[in-house]
Amino acid sequence: MTGAAITPPVTGAGGVCVIGGGLAGIAAAIRLADLGLPVTLLESRPELGGATYSLRRDGLTVDTGQHVFLRCYTAYRGLLDRLGTSGDTDLQERFSVPVLLPGRAPQLLTRRALPAPAHLLPALAGYRLLSPAERLAAVRGCAALQYVDPDLPATDERSFGDWLADHGQGTRAIRRLWDLITVAALNLPCAQASLALAARVFRTGLLDAADAGDIGRPRVPLVDLHAVAARRLLDRLGARVHVRSRVRWIRPGLVGFRIGLDGTEVEADAVVLAVPHQAAAALVPPAAAPTAPQWHRLGAAPIVNVHLRYADRVTELSMAAAVESPAQWIFDRSESGADGQHLVVSLSAADLEIERPAAELVAVQRQALADLFPAARHTPVRDAFVTREPKATFRQAPGTRAYRSGSATRLPGLALAGAWTDTGWPDTMEGAVRSGQAAADVVARDLASRPRHQTEAAR
Ligand SMILES: Cc1cc2nc3c(=O)[nH]c(=O)nc-3n(C[C@H](O)[C@H](O)[C@H](O)COP(=O)(O)OP(=O)(O)OC[C@H]3O[C@@H](n4cnc5c(N)ncnc54)[C@H](O)[C@@H]3O)c2cc1C
Repeated sequence: MTGAAITPPVTGAGGVCVIGGGLAGIAAAIRLADLGLPVTLLESRPELGGATYSLRRDGLTVDTGQHVFLRCYTAYRGLLDRLGTSGDTDLQERFSVPVLLPGRAPQLLTRRALPAPAHLLPALAGYRLLSPAERLAAVRGCAALQYVDPDLPATDERSFGDWLADHGQGTRAIRRLWDLITVAALNLPCAQASLALAARVFRTGLLDAADAGDIGRPRVPLVDLHAVAARRLLDRLGARVHVRSRVRWIRPGLVGFRIGLDGTEVEADAVVLAVPHQAAAALVPPAAAPTAPQWHRLGAAPIVNVHLRYADRVTELSMAAAVESPAQWIFDRSESGADGQHLVVSLSAADLEIERPAAELVAVQRQALADLFPAARHTPVRDAFVTREPKATFRQAPGTRAYRSGSATRLPGLALAGAWTDTGWPDTMEGAVRSGQAAADVVARDLASRPRHQTEAAR
């Protein structure tokens, strides 16, 4: 049965119950089904996809937030291959980002065909938005960052901004270079971000391998890229998917687990809990994770997207980043063959923007794009709207590593997944997929080591 809410009474599902149908839950369910285990996926919303979902608006399918991935997202890209949707994305052959500053010609940050980390040297050396002294300091900063160990607990106690200041990076270089990447990747400015997570982003994403940072983007709405394709695959693998099925509680039994939904219960031999940290803390049985009351310390950071639909094309750039401007990253999301141009301004670390009225946000971004693209000054905007995600990611600040739980819990057969868990990665699609696969492996191992008669008795 795919796609239905669970109607009472449904009991004795057995097998593994995956709770939460974001990328972590989807990845876990696929891995478990591949291992031949019976899987039931329970998702509270009407569709899978979690933070990567799309809305219908006046005949348009609009993502609630522009998503990009990098070539180094190996687990995520493997998932797309499995879902059969890799072909619905564009992956740059070579990392290349036009950086815009009002009144200046675009500066291209691009990698060269050189081994890492030399592949970025020409781009940094020629980055005219910084003075020659700032560029030299930036090269030295990148070199020093290569020796920062993201896995050392002490690294996570420090802010990236603090480290940058100690390594000769001035405030202008931070605004015009380092924040360009950090705000987008960690959803916090350098000053507030964990050094450990920033080092992971810069090392794994840009410095350790030449092609790691090539940027990928969906060509189709996220709902088609992930949710629809995941449903199709899970169906084929024989997994049961129930949407509109909010889990209210999980209780350990002698061997397996009982899971409470509105008006019904499900039994499972094992559980993967793949929900955001706030929901996980409320659902996880206390015996499984004594640290759960601390998880709220991971906090949340918002992302806002401002959509501007122009009557005509205002730029030939399909993606750009802006500095010294209220715009951050700009994406062309025009449907092929459609009139005009649909630009999306993605605003990360949007603590101020999240509460601002839509009309104000639209006015600010219209002006910002007019300052960046001369054609936008006189081109009418046919439609404009805003999407907001107040809890887009956890707040990836210093000290948060201590609150990111591992996949295994103290209760065999119950594992945790989600981009917030301790994957070593920031809160990203890659982290989500890795966490789901790791949690699936934990419960599969637990089930394999459980005497068969216990599993039978639990049903
Ligand atoms: C606007 C925005 C832009 C982003 N941009 C990027 C980007 O460019 N690149 C990138 O890599 N990452 C990006 N991210 C982060 C990325 O989307 C997340 O890290 C990832 O999707 C999280 O997946 P998850 O499965 O861990 O959690 P979620 O996607 O949050 O999934 C959890 C699921 O659990 C369900 N659930 C919750 N409670 C219950 C319950 N009680 N019972 C049943 N189901 C429940 C939820 O409905 C949800 O579907 C962005 C996020 C946002 C919001």
